[in-house]
Amino acid sequence: MARYTGAVCKLCRREGQKLFLKGGRCYTNKCALERRSYAPGQHGQGRKKVSEYGMQLREKQKARRYYGVLEGQFHKYFLMAEKMPGQAGENLLKICESRLDNIVYLLGWADSRAEGRQLVTHGHFCVNGKKVDIPSYLCKAGDVISIKEKSAQTDAFKNIIEANASRPVPAWLDINREALSGKVINLPERDQIEVPVAEHLIVEFYSK
Ligand code: SF4
Repeated sequence: MARYTGAVCKLCRREGQKLFLKGGRCYTNKCALERRSYAPGQHGQGRKKVSEYGMQLREKQKARRYYGVLEGQFHKYFLMAEKMPGQAGENLLKICESRLDNIVYLLGWADSRAEGRQLVTHGHFCVNGKKVDIPSYLCKAGDVISIKEKSAQTDAFKNIIEANASRPVPAWLDINREALSGKVINLPERDQIEVPVAEHLIVEFYSK
């Protein structure tokens, strides 16, 4: 399945929630959802009643779009989550949070998760001192993520870092702004994950 390349604001409007897919614009009144808070398309303002299955599907799609993960991989994460101790829904979100492209975004080194994915693919980051260019790389507690020295000196990176310096970094990550590195203290608890989804509905969706 190909990656979605259409207008990302439509995805937020479809889910009826901000998914923060467009960087700085998402935090301004230029956000499309604030101007048109209804689903896109001819019948966007008419859709009202949602079935139980529809609600489960929407929660799954919302989480997938929030993290920019394709269906096959998301389902694979769910199967992994089921085998882990604890609740499958919470485990699923922890797995998504531990992706390298997500962590790079949370550390303020990318304007959006999509940009994080692109920057990782271009080889700008190291994990524990070794270059990693796989956005889906799953980080674990104790891992240290850093920007490659040569990359950090470019104007593009300096601008991104400066623009995102005031964005709060979650408590489960420890950022060292001087060394341009960040450490995963531990994987997040549910209350440290901001994704606006009811994960039990995703579990129900995949458990049918
Ligand atoms: Fe979503 Fe951001 Fe577009 Fe608003 S600006 S609709 S939050 S992607």
